[in-house]
Amino acid sequence: KNARTPLMAGNWKMNLNHLEAIAHVQKLAFALSDKDHDAVETAVLVPFTDLRSVQTLVDGDKLKIKYGAQDISSHDSGAYTGEVSGPMLAKLKCTYVAVGHSERRQYHAETDEQCNEKVRAAYKHGLTPILCIGEGLDVRKAGEQVPYTLAQLDGGLKDIPADQAESVVIAYEPVWAIGTGEVATPEDAQEVCGAIRARLAELYSQELADQVRIQYGGSVKSGNVAAIMAQPDVDGALVGGAALDAEEFVKIVRFRD
Ligand code: PEP
Repeated sequence: KNARTPLMAGNWKMNLNHLEAIAHVQKLAFALSDKDHDAVETAVLVPFTDLRSVQTLVDGDKLKIKYGAQDISSHDSGAYTGEVSGPMLAKLKCTYVAVGHSERRQYHAETDEQCNEKVRAAYKHGLTPILCIGEGLDVRKAGEQVPYTLAQLDGGLKDIPADQAESVVIAYEPVWAIGTGEVATPEDAQEVCGAIRARLAELYSQELADQVRIQYGGSVKSGNVAAIMAQPDVDGALVGGAALDAEEFVKIVRFRD
């Protein structure tokens, strides 16, 4: 676990106006020091309309905050009104892109097959996908969270070669814990994150599995992050609501303090 640098990623979803977004990244930049950056990787997944300004801030100050988008088209270009492509995100020097967030799966009916195409599109253009997987409440109540989540993992990574998959980030996000204030227990998070790593070892190799970062997401806050991060297979957090408050997000990045 020590070899994997924790990744704390803020998923802003469809929040903050453009000026608020700029102010927010500036606050993070002022608050986070070199020491923080050495210990924990920090990223913000912002609305498409903020990417260019975030790029400028990060470039200008040589900040070590990474940034990326919340979705990517599976197509490179063409008649896909409203979509944003991998080449467009790459041009703005995004590092990460979320793929298959539960809100995309729920409100835009994204399937594992489409997520797989988006993972491919990300790698094709040098972006690192954060593949989001996790079960809903009905599945959890039936005790099927591990097979359900692993099926999403298999689907999202189908035919992705090891030299790409080695850099993937997996975000385990039980849907019942997203934005609900209901956080999975550290043991619940570990159960599924451990199963994800074991499956990566089956699909690829133990070496690759040991290298991949697996995040937990679902109502993470400064008050619960340390206990979740103490689990052996949890290497970071994907943070929604709490990432909209810069001070709170900085506390999450400094979970070890
Ligand atoms: C998310 O959007 O990925 C998320 C985990 O949201 P929240 O932290 O608000 O539950």
